[in-house]
Amino acid sequence: MKIVEIRDAVVPIRSEIRNAVIDFSEMTVSAVAVVTDGVRDGEPLVGFGFNSNGRYAQQGILRERMIPRLLAAEPAELLDAEGENFDPHAAWRVMMRNEKPGGHGERSVAAACLDMALWDLVGKVEGKPLCRVFAERYGSGEPDSEVFVYGAGGYYYPDRGTAALKDELRGYRDRGYSTVKMKIGGASLDEDLRRVEAAIEVVGQAGSLAVDANARFDRDRAVEYARALEPYGLFWYEEPVGPLDFDGLAAVSRTTTTPLATGENLFSLPDARNLIRYGGLDPERDWLQFDPALSYGLVEYLRILEMLEREGWSPRRCVPHGGHQMALHIAAGMGLGGSESYPEVFQPFGGFHDSAEVEDGRVRIPDVPGLGIEEKAELHAVFRELLDR
Ligand code: MG
Repeated sequence: MKIVEIRDAVVPIRSEIRNAVIDFSEMTVSAVAVVTDGVRDGEPLVGFGFNSNGRYAQQGILRERMIPRLLAAEPAELLDAEGENFDPHAAWRVMMRNEKPGGHGERSVAAACLDMALWDLVGKVEGKPLCRVFAERYGSGEPDSEVFVYGAGGYYYPDRGTAALKDELRGYRDRGYSTVKMKIGGASLDEDLRRVEAAIEVVGQAGSLAVDANARFDRDRAVEYARALEPYGLFWYEEPVGPLDFDGLAAVSRTTTTPLATGENLFSLPDARNLIRYGGLDPERDWLQFDPALSYGLVEYLRILEMLEREGWSPRRCVPHGGHQMALHIAAGMGLGGSESYPEVFQPFGGFHDSAEVEDGRVRIPDVPGLGIEEKAELHAVFRELLDR
């Protein structure tokens, strides 16, 4: 079995949303199809992958470096010891050949696309959903039967005030989400507190509401917000400071009992380790949001989980960013705390299988081989078009 071709495309995931720092009107992702000479059920065996939202498509790195390296490798070099399935760990080493350590830039995003497609192949060859593959290889043996998901949104509606925010969050509750998240940092502190109070009215209790500052604040402002938010007892306070401002984060951590959440903009094991070493986070209280589909894929995420275990963190404290199928499978397979979910936005890459229903804030994964992109019609259409080109 060998890879015969790797196709990629740049696909828009335009969204009419903005957070405190960027808008998503020009957002793109890379979609990759790894075509093999294998056949399953009369169909060519193809693995599909893409990168998570928040970073743009990575066509240059894919086409100039990583895809040529995979295609130039000896076929056996990309297979497991028995030669029966692809080995994403081996492929990772091939993709990263001649890449210096550190300064990850966005090559971690390119590697993540290919990693996802390779895992999709692994699942399809084994005839198992990825969550089961992950649980058997790296977890307890049995995937979680359902995964906690929270509805991320709570955007600013400059012309419509808190009524529109309340409508949006009520919509998530009606769809079965028990916990929802809203943006802060895009208005004055006073206005944000009014928005938080309006949101609490909808969700019923502050413990079911998370807030996300999208790394907007400097240390002093982040601490000021932490003090102001403290009395509510929120679910979490996300990315109060810049992703690499570990000292600032530690200062926020010292001034609040509100759980903190961060990590979606850290893309490697060394960065994750620095967060754990210097960010002042509490493994009993706080949450980690590293997104495997932005940060060198599951191969690197496994290294991060190992590091966390050594540092006294349970995988249950991890709730990856992104709201995509890969994070859902990893959450179920590796026994994480859950996955983000973006109802309706970042389509067609955002969200889970078409039959997914959120019940009491939890989602089940269908028993189909691989990642299950075939279970998401609009997304599958993107990949079919890529193959038909
Ligand atoms: Mg966030």
